[in-house]
Amino acid sequence: MDAEQLRENAHKMVDFIADYYKNIESFPVLSQVQPGYLHKLLPGSAPNQPESLQDVLDDVQTKILPGVTHWQSPDYFAYFSSNSSVAGFLGEMLSAGINMVGFSWITSPAATELEMIVLDWLAKLLKLPDDFLSTGQGGGVIQGTASEAALVVLLAARDKVLRTVGKDAIGKLVAYASDQTHSSLQKACQIGGIHPENCRLLKTDKSTEYALSPESLSAAISHDIAVGLIPFFLCGTVGTTSSTAVDPLPALGQITKSNEMWFHVDAAYAGSACICPEYRHYIDGIEEADSFNMNAHKWFLTNFDCSALWVKDRNALIQSLSTNPEFLRNKASEANLVVDYKDWQIPLGRRFRSLKLWMVLRLYGLENLQSYIRNHIALAKHFEELISQDPRFQVVAPRKFSLVCFCLLPPHDKEDCANILNADLLDAVNSTGKLFISHTKCLVLSGKYTLRFAVGAPLTEERHVNEALKVLQDKATSLLQTL
Ligand code: PLP
Repeated sequence: MDAEQLRENAHKMVDFIADYYKNIESFPVLSQVQPGYLHKLLPGSAPNQPESLQDVLDDVQTKILPGVTHWQSPDYFAYFSSNSSVAGFLGEMLSAGINMVGFSWITSPAATELEMIVLDWLAKLLKLPDDFLSTGQGGGVIQGTASEAALVVLLAARDKVLRTVGKDAIGKLVAYASDQTHSSLQKACQIGGIHPENCRLLKTDKSTEYALSPESLSAAISHDIAVGLIPFFLCGTVGTTSSTAVDPLPALGQITKSNEMWFHVDAAYAGSACICPEYRHYIDGIEEADSFNMNAHKWFLTNFDCSALWVKDRNALIQSLSTNPEFLRNKASEANLVVDYKDWQIPLGRRFRSLKLWMVLRLYGLENLQSYIRNHIALAKHFEELISQDPRFQVVAPRKFSLVCFCLLPPHDKEDCANILNADLLDAVNSTGKLFISHTKCLVLSGKYTLRFAVGAPLTEERHVNEALKVLQDKATSLLQTL
């Protein structure tokens, strides 16, 4: 790496990215290209001779950006957001600049120690119990995604119980969650060797606002024990993907405790809101959990990827995931003086991801982060109020955070075309390129094709919400006229 070459080119790149952000509203939010478009635009093999940065940037502008869906656009309201910020970006840049691989403490002591410190800071902002801090038997670790977090804790829980009941009992282990739980739990069960029929997704309905009912969990556990199975894991969710339902942690925690099960809490999206005192109650009961996860890259101004996972018993992770080949041996690890994060995750190599979270916490501070969350929730409430005033639409699930679930109602004599109507509305608004929303259907939400309007992009202002509503209303008018 030539320092002067870096200085010159990196300045050009920063200019390019700054211009991208300046003009971001001019791009169609959802990429409008067709599959295979890029193969037609780029050569079939790599160049023999070096090309100029300017030529590459020209290609980015004309060939790559049309195939990008602009997650940072203020008109992005799909799935859940994936935040970027100046602080998060600078942290990523610094991490790329230092470019170390911090799998063991010795491979970059600062990377391990900063991660421990920053996750302790964040745990304190969330008012997690002290058991989750690195000063006790637990601690935090940055995983790439919530899916990896679910996998590593499921493996830790599995091995913990198998140490007692014997490895041959793996076919009897049962994991529980609600039918609203993210599919990453099923994937974790698949990878973890849990029998597919033993991943119980318990039904939820309107009566519990789509949250897991403790009664149905207790009943399922009792039934499974009666037939000789071994309940070992519960994944509760705070802020489900489809409708941001919140499972009742205190009651669920009591059940897992009395059945000696591992209790994991997935707050991938909504965990960020719990830094605000008025939303912290959503994780009341977290004292009973064994692990807790939130994605700082979703709604906490930290560039992807940064999924924060805390466990109460770090040894449970280490016993499942540790390997100690000769080529990694070193005095600090042997003396048991340090944390080696390679033993808390699936891969060996790991990036210096704590830098960006540290930058976010330091450059913004708690009060700004709280205002950021509150502003998005206020914007979602604003959208909810506006769309509720239009009798053609219906809000179909209670809004708790910054997601509004709604649908367009068909005329009374055409009720059977409700799903098609809403799918058409989704296509119609997204193909304008003026906004991007997503849908869900897996829900019990009366089995309806449901539209999701998730506020969470850092640049979104009230005018973007108002404009999005107008596009939705205009397209709804056109579609209803064709019926
Ligand atoms: N859990 C919840 C509640 C989610 O909403 C999501 C994604 O939206 C995930 C887990 C999976 O996240 P990741 O992409 O970080 O694995």
